[in-house]
Amino acid sequence: MMTVAFIGLGNMGAPMAANLIKAGYQLRINDINPNAAASLVSKGAVWCDSAAQAIEGVDAILTMLPNGEIVKRLFLDEQGLIACATSLPLLIDCSTISPDEARLVGAAAKDANLEMIDAPVSGGVRGAVDGSLSFMVGGSTTAFERAKPLLSAMGRSIFHVGDQGAGQAAKICNNMMAGILMAGTAEVLALGVRNGLAPEILSEIMNHSSGGNFMVNRWNPWPGVDQSTPASHAYAGGFQVSLLLKDLGLALQSGLSTRSSTPLGAITCSLFQLHSLSNVENGYLDMSSIQRLYFPDTTTTSTSSR
Ligand code: NAD
Repeated sequence: MMTVAFIGLGNMGAPMAANLIKAGYQLRINDINPNAAASLVSKGAVWCDSAAQAIEGVDAILTMLPNGEIVKRLFLDEQGLIACATSLPLLIDCSTISPDEARLVGAAAKDANLEMIDAPVSGGVRGAVDGSLSFMVGGSTTAFERAKPLLSAMGRSIFHVGDQGAGQAAKICNNMMAGILMAGTAEVLALGVRNGLAPEILSEIMNHSSGGNFMVNRWNPWPGVDQSTPASHAYAGGFQVSLLLKDLGLALQSGLSTRSSTPLGAITCSLFQLHSLSNVENGYLDMSSIQRLYFPDTTTTSTSSR
């Protein structure tokens, strides 16, 4: 069985690594925080004191890191992963970073005769735990085919989007759309409620009309419309506002570098920024909590109180 180095064992990386162990891969792991590794070591992973040590002799290197600056440093530094990778491993970066950064690191890997893919994920911590993540992959077809068995051990939907950077581009496009749809849905629900409409009836109507979308139907931001959504559980779980803000920032940055006009993305980013600044806890809530920006007390929905 293949030996894999896994670097970055946080909320996402640790459960993804656990699924690789479950699938029979031998893991060599590293994180700047050694506490992150305890549960994986008890499952059979080998702890390594440095990333350079973790990649010794491995067939593949997986990284799941907070941002592009860290990814660039880890891969491109003089003593970084690309310089130290002597066994021609496949490089798989699952972190969410900008398409430009993914292309930069991918080009350096290519210069060193290493195959690399960007493989950001969707599905959150729950998807990482139960192995149901979606992967959006950028890279060559041969690198994609090489990576597929590994990705299949951690996810259910695996899309080959295009060349290096294409996976990141797909990820930020999707998340910008999700943010726009969520803000729009929250805005419209607040307007409807202030007009005396019941949010569940308005949602039902939109679901059968042209205003229907994933947020109205599956991630409704109004508490109580759908008991299974974060909105009905004080906006706990789901996808944190702080993470959406990171992705919206990457989308706007990419808009500048590709000379794309993204006014809706910019307004949406500002709205979520305002929401997160209005209360320090908002950053940790699910993104559907943007409803509170439009309607601060969603528990009070009787006509008299509007
Ligand atoms: P996290 O902060 O929980 O984990 C990141 C881990 O990387 C931490 O354990 C940290 O100690 C480690 N790390 C940082 N620098 C390092 C270095 N130089 N060497 C080794 N380890 C290092 O973050 P997360 O929630 O697991 O997210 C990871 C990536 O996945 C991010 O790019 C994020 O945008 C993306 N993502 C997260 C979610 C989510 O729901 N959390 C969903 C989709 C995508």
